[in-house]
Amino acid sequence: MDYINEKQSKSKTLDLLKCMSLLVCSSLGAILILAFILACLFMAAPAMGSCQDRTIPGLTSIKLPKTYRTAGGIPVRRIICHTSMKKPLALAFKCLRDNRDLDLIESIDGCYCYRNIRGTNRLSNHAHGRAIDINAKSTIPQAVSDCFKQADFIWGGDWKFRPDPMHFELPSGE
Ligand SMILES: [Zn+2]
Repeated sequence: MDYINEKQSKSKTLDLLKCMSLLVCSSLGAILILAFILACLFMAAPAMGSCQDRTIPGLTSIKLPKTYRTAGGIPVRRIICHTSMKKPLALAFKCLRDNRDLDLIESIDGCYCYRNIRGTNRLSNHAHGRAIDINAKSTIPQAVSDCFKQADFIWGGDWKFRPDPMHFELPSGE
């Protein structure tokens, strides 16, 4: 009798252990899946942080002069920006095309994105669709910043406080 009881309690302990390890494995699995999904989202919008799911008036889809990729490798042919970006972007890309420098842009990393400036509670110019991020994971060749500045963009790489080299935005009030 004692022997059977002992055996039963042993098998109960084993069952408990099995159950616990299964639980640990499945929650680890869930965490891994969640991490994977988050990583995918991050890759899709590396420069943007997380964008709130909302739109603003005056947004438009702007066709790029060629199919670029995001820094995460996703092909981009069109970007959503404010209409005020249409002309300056066309000018900047015309300048790059004329200089045969279109390929100096290695990635296009987003335009409209409703979010605050990182670390503040002020809206980013991306939230107005009036900023574009370029080469988020590489550097900005001077030929690129020159063309964008000629087209009236402010380059984040020129900022003394917290330079943001991937970032080009329109001056406010245009
Ligand atoms: Zn930016």
